[in-house]
Amino acid sequence: MAQDARLLELQHISQSYGAGSRQFVAVEDVNLTLSDGEFVALLGPSGCGKSTLLRIITGLQRPTSGLVLYRGRPLHGVNPNAAIVFQTFALFPWLTVLENVEVALKARGVPAPIRTTRAVDLLDRVGLDGFETAYPRELSGGMRQKVGFARAMAVEPELLCLDEPFSALDVLSAEALRGELLELWTSGSIPTRAILMVTHNIEEAVFMADRIVVMDKDPGRVIAELAIPLPHPRQRKHVDFLKVVDEVYGILAGQTEPEQVEMGSAPGEPGHTRALPHVTVNQLAGLLEHLAEAPGDRADLYRLSEDLKVDSDSLLRLAETAELLGFATIAKGDIMLTPLGETFAEAGILARKEIFRTRIRRLPLFKWLLSMLKAASGQRLQSEIVRTALELEFPPDEAARQLETAINWGRYAELLAYDDSDERIYLEPTQPAAEKAA
Ligand code: ADP
Ligand code: MG
Repeated sequence: MAQDARLLELQHISQSYGAGSRQFVAVEDVNLTLSDGEFVALLGPSGCGKSTLLRIITGLQRPTSGLVLYRGRPLHGVNPNAAIVFQTFALFPWLTVLENVEVALKARGVPAPIRTTRAVDLLDRVGLDGFETAYPRELSGGMRQKVGFARAMAVEPELLCLDEPFSALDVLSAEALRGELLELWTSGSIPTRAILMVTHNIEEAVFMADRIVVMDKDPGRVIAELAIPLPHPRQRKHVDFLKVVDEVYGILAGQTEPEQVEMGSAPGEPGHTRALPHVTVNQLAGLLEHLAEAPGDRADLYRLSEDLKVDSDSLLRLAETAELLGFATIAKGDIMLTPLGETFAEAGILARKEIFRTRIRRLPLFKWLLSMLKAASGQRLQSEIVRTALELEFPPDEAARQLETAINWGRYAELLAYDDSDERIYLEPTQPAAEKAA
């Protein structure tokens, strides 16, 4: 009985990327089961290996080690019983909405007349009735994502995998589409037996899933699991809902490592390069000022997300930055200013810059960037060159974002200058005397 209910089982899954001294463990020893009838959310910060796990589960990628069992049998190759919806769904621009759904059915050998009937029905169910003959370019992002859902569901997958399916949408479209998916799922009107949704949005996970599997990064691993026995439809303001959200915040934010580990390595060094969190200095200053005004210089992370009007993911990134720079400590879902953070919040603009400067110089990525600039002729570098170097460490879009954040922080700290017209990064020539000694 219990054996039959088990749809998917991951046993000791690990995944490494890179080679030689640059090899790093992206996912370490993940064990996970998904039962018939379950909606599970896989929650964790960016880079913890969520997409990697989904690719392994659907058979798009073979893990470095470990076993994937589907209905008790080892998975070989792509899993024909699973479908996956990505953050931005790649539709064929030259096909109509209807044809985009039919194409998935054709690929599975469904005969033509049945294809059309089924595709029309699905488009109707996701609320795209009347758009069958439209082309993707005529649709909003939310509607395109609906076509993506219809296409994934057209093949009637037993296991539906969703990789941050709502995160590229505006707030209203995302909320509407969440509701529609939940309606299809809870009413049992789709043959799908289980859903595994990757997200980094805490509220979304608590709103939709029966169980949350919490991951953390460096290395990517499961750190907690938690059942959500709340009935549907869930009320975001309900005290029980808020209690679960608070609990998850506590789990995610409570995982802090000793500083040496946390600092990681620089580009080119062995190991996994420590990425800069994508946060602007303004956002960080806003957080620290807010905390400085709070009683005891501390606040509940969950409340902060409401007070500062930022989503959970942005807030955790901000909190992570504050902690990385030594401005705050995080424990059990609370964030608290350190004396340094308090000093920063109360300091004037020049003192702030100086504090920030001494802190970011410690970060491996900055050390690397500054030493590259120092060695370059004229102490300047084409930003293109820096980005290319970063692309050895990060996927291209992430490399671009890393560079953007480094420039934003470095300019504020007056460690570097950036000239938009020739796209060069310069080492600031006149660094204050106090800095030279450091
Ligand atoms: P998430 O989806 O949780 O953001 P990913 O699974 O995309 O995480 O990535 C986990 C880690 O593995 C990240 O550090 C990412 O840069 C790295 N990574 C992912 N895919 C590859 C790849 N094909 N080659 C090298 N590194 C990769
Ligand atoms: Mg991902």
